[in-house]
Amino acid sequence: MSDLSGNALLKVLETILQELNVGILLVDRDRKVLRWNQFMAVHSGRPEAEVKGKDLFDAFPELPQAWLDKKLRSVHILKNPAFTSWQQRPYLFRFRHNRPLTSDMDHMRQDCTFIPIKDDNDEVEYVCIVVNDVTENCIFQGQLQQALKQVQAMSVTDALTGLYNRRHLETVLGQEFKRARRHKRPLSVLLFDIDFFKKVNDTYGHRAGDTVLQSVARLCQEMLREHDVCARYGGEEFCLVLPDTDLEGACVVAERLRKSVKQERIEVDGNEISVTITIGVCDYDDTMPHHEAMLDSADEALYEGKEQGRDRVIS
Ligand code: GH3
Ligand code: MG
Ligand code: MG
Repeated sequence: MSDLSGNALLKVLETILQELNVGILLVDRDRKVLRWNQFMAVHSGRPEAEVKGKDLFDAFPELPQAWLDKKLRSVHILKNPAFTSWQQRPYLFRFRHNRPLTSDMDHMRQDCTFIPIKDDNDEVEYVCIVVNDVTENCIFQGQLQQALKQVQAMSVTDALTGLYNRRHLETVLGQEFKRARRHKRPLSVLLFDIDFFKKVNDTYGHRAGDTVLQSVARLCQEMLREHDVCARYGGEEFCLVLPDTDLEGACVVAERLRKSVKQERIEVDGNEISVTITIGVCDYDDTMPHHEAMLDSADEALYEGKEQGRDRVIS
């Protein structure tokens, strides 16, 4: 078997250059286009004969001239390959892509490599620009980020009510507890439970019970200020964390919430359901060792409220 050389080698290289599913163009020191492969011709709609010998920026006025000029100059000076990814610059050549249209991506995403080609004096004579179509990667990355966002939202959300879940509430309370301690700021917690909720389920059914939970959650949410956090703590127990709020302020919020729940008429399948809640309130004091102590204290107050006859606020 003979080694490939001369014309035979050139023919092989030419075929590869044309058939590669990658854009390849060659420019000289004056940005004149010397080669323009099939990929570039197909995607630009401009055959090599039309582009060859032309100044790259005359042929493609929409190119980011200042940026590309700087890039090419740096390859000439440093004599090293340079790379640019679609994350830094979505594309160099504005080509349409042939993937199904997504709302925010109308052009082919490209990674580009700038390869210096040197003469016998080790000076860069040409730069070969390699254009890779990375649209698919970009779409997948977008979908992945979207999915991660959804998973992240789901991991902190209670599915029935859309409120935060207990895990997230504990995280937030842990952070607020530290902040209250460090900056000597007030902090309060409300823990409340729907009174005789079992009876709602028994009388109207579990699905009606679910609707009641959703309505109570909505009332709770409507009461929140910007930094307050409300969560479904358990079955029919809810918890509110009120940063920068002292015990007196928290009791005002609790009383307002108690009244608003009591006044609400919840319609389910032609039935009007009303419920009451009992709320335990507690505020931060610096003898508390950790945030769980606040939850324990609010829970004790809540228990006390149940003992005293329900439908009340206890601190
Ligand atoms: P109390 O005033 O002492 O709180 O009485 P209660 O009946 O509310 O208390 P109990 O803890 O006995 O009952 C709570 C009920 O909440 C029991 C359970 O079936 C119901 N529950 C818990 N989670 C859900 C839910 O997601 N949907 C519905 N519909 N019911 C739930
Ligand atoms: Mg209950
Ligand atoms: Mg309960």
